[in-house]
Amino acid sequence: MSESKSIYDLFAGSKPVEELIHSYLYTDRLADPQKVTLQNYYQMMYSDVCGFTGMKEKLPPLIVTFSRSRKTDILRLKGKEYLVYDQYLGQTLNMLNRIYFNSNEPFHIQMYACKYLAEQLRVLCNHHGAINFAKAYSELKISSPLPINNVEQRSIYTLAQETFLIAHELAHLAFRYSDEMKKEFFEDAQQTVEEALQRYAIDTDTPEENNILERYNFPREDFKKARLDLQQQAQHAILTRPHLVEEIACDSFANLVTFGTMGGVHKMEEIDFIESISMCMRHLRLLEFFKSLLDYYCDKPQDDFHTSTRSVQLRITSNRLEYNTFFFTDPTRPNEINDHLNNMSNRYAEIIDDPLLFSFPAKLKKIKEHDNMESLSHNSQIYFGSRKFMDMVFYDVDLLTGWA
Ligand SMILES: [Zn+2]
Repeated sequence: MSESKSIYDLFAGSKPVEELIHSYLYTDRLADPQKVTLQNYYQMMYSDVCGFTGMKEKLPPLIVTFSRSRKTDILRLKGKEYLVYDQYLGQTLNMLNRIYFNSNEPFHIQMYACKYLAEQLRVLCNHHGAINFAKAYSELKISSPLPINNVEQRSIYTLAQETFLIAHELAHLAFRYSDEMKKEFFEDAQQTVEEALQRYAIDTDTPEENNILERYNFPREDFKKARLDLQQQAQHAILTRPHLVEEIACDSFANLVTFGTMGGVHKMEEIDFIESISMCMRHLRLLEFFKSLLDYYCDKPQDDFHTSTRSVQLRITSNRLEYNTFFFTDPTRPNEINDHLNNMSNRYAEIIDDPLLFSFPAKLKKIKEHDNMESLSHNSQIYFGSRKFMDMVFYDVDLLTGWA
């Protein structure tokens, strides 16, 4: 590993490293470490996960942050690496699990999409967009409160999903440390990707597909064409993102480590583990979709949308193939696991994907076309553009989205 210094390292001086990392995270993503409330919880979880990788002493220290970007990544400073985990990502997974388990109406996921857009537009200093989505979020929250049930099941699912995402990041490092491990996981991942790509082109007439045809009233010929498009997009994703095989290899490593941790330390049932991680992958796809909504709102080109959501789609398919073929060897389980995953997939589509794909874009368009100035009072408009007024708008956005 080279010991090259970044420009940031040269300016870092003698400040404690942790302080420097938090300053960087504030500049990069408006992170607020004061909001971290689960420091000890994450340090313990991290220690468990590292223990199951078999290379604990080589792995970097964990820094916990809190930001609207919901990113987990590896930072390098003064020649040392740090794994940054965002507590707000955990809260996001928990909220999506809560919507999945408890909601029975389309407004809840739309409400969360408004919150996401308000937060991101706030970071981009787009005060018009931020205040409009913050208001839409607040109105939906009041008119359709989300029930609080299934707390126990939800928290274990969230824990498994957070463990999986941390283990996935550690896998990137593990493959750098061990060529032998890298070779083994990459070969399997390559094989799984090829199989996943082939499956897009097969008309299998499965109950899952028939459900989709019925739900969307879709002619079978159009569906076949859609599958071929999907295959082409997935192939495009692979060609334009060569690191996707590595992502799938990291998911595979993360499955083993997370199952070890959740089964061993937390006694999680196998089938719940599979369901929670399959849901986690869908949550990741959803966050990519949210990004494409933001791009649409900001008039950014949409080309990347297909590539990024298809990348996650390919990870979903590969993960499922892995559960079916490699991961569990008990011959009596595949049908049970498949039925369980089909039910999850149908509920996820009904409660989360469909309300966003079919009715939210029209609302988004309406908010985009709405005269943004209407939402601000006449007097406020006179002072519009002054620093003080923008701070006031951002304060309102933060208040409505729960950040103030
Ligand atoms: Zn990755």
